Amino acid sequence: MMNSVINQMAEELRKAPKVALFSHVSPDGDCIGSMLGIGLALEALGKEVAMINPDPIPRNLSFLPGVDKIARSMPNPLPETLLFVDCADLQRVQLQREDLPAEAVILNLDHHISNQNFGKINWVDSHAAASGELAYALIRRLNVELTLEIAANLYTALLTDTGCFKYSNTTSKTHQIAGELIDAGINLGDIHHFVFDQTPMVKLELLRRGLNQLQIFAEGQIGMMTLRKRDFEESGAEESLSEGLIDHARTIEGVEVAVLFKESKPDTIRVSLRSNRWLDVNRIADSFGGGGHKRAAGCTLHVSLEEAKQMVRQSIEEELKLGRSH
Ligand code: 5GP
Ligand code: MN
Ligand code: MN
Repeated sequence: MMNSVINQMAEELRKAPKVALFSHVSPDGDCIGSMLGIGLALEALGKEVAMINPDPIPRNLSFLPGVDKIARSMPNPLPETLLFVDCADLQRVQLQREDLPAEAVILNLDHHISNQNFGKINWVDSHAAASGELAYALIRRLNVELTLEIAANLYTALLTDTGCFKYSNTTSKTHQIAGELIDAGINLGDIHHFVFDQTPMVKLELLRRGLNQLQIFAEGQIGMMTLRKRDFEESGAEESLSEGLIDHARTIEGVEVAVLFKESKPDTIRVSLRSNRWLDVNRIADSFGGGGHKRAAGCTLHVSLEEAKQMVRQSIEEELKLGRSH
């Protein structure tokens, strides 16, 4: 089954002269690394490739080979074949189906359990630790040489979505693929350094503010962090720098669920959710119109910061009370 969907996707890509690749808003290492890996592979096959992300690329990913090829908006005209990478639904690229030509051939490559299967071909594997695992299999299927540039992108995809191979989504397959990528000659030390050890001072200022607003609820099981609009403005940090801050709440002893509330605009609250051992945060995000994975999910609420905190906290407390029974 999985084999045939890879073949179908590879076949669609092989016959397309032009392909546009899309990755999600608030980009992370997985969507950018996977998109670039596939994009470079398609270029090696002689295709005209457009790579699109609506948001600025986070600073710690700016070293990725090919990153300058990524555009903020769609090319005009749009190619017929469109590949969405690491996107659970079209809203993740700020699109509606009507924004795309009726005849578009939509390919959907993803690992989110909440994926809406919006494509003509849907290759959704929620057991994959990262979309990078699927991107790797696709590139192999396309018989493209695993260049250093492609390998560095795919490795970054695995590295970031698994939290350095430590989250519970990591499997032996993840490590096997990482091994193949290392054999392609990538410089592990450099990649780890660029991704994780280049913290801008303004990010620490954001962390300081986040920790000042850390709250613990449900007898220590919920850790909530908040970043107001003014925290971004006063620290001079762009929104993407909040990536990873939630781990400071998640890793507190006794915490099962961590939440980060980010006030993007006065009534637009981005919510990130993480769990450690058992609580399904995808269910919570889904109930607010978002999605993700069991241990990492998110949603956007169009209410005030205080209302958002109240609503999400209540929902988590209910799930905690229900326990593991459902
Ligand atoms: P983050 O908290 O890092 O923004 O996202 C955590 C996970 O949840 C990621 O895998 C991301 O793709 C997913 N996610 C975050 N926000 C949303 C959302 O609004 N909708 C959906 N479907 N998934 C989301
Ligand atoms: Mn992602
Ligand atoms: Mn991912």
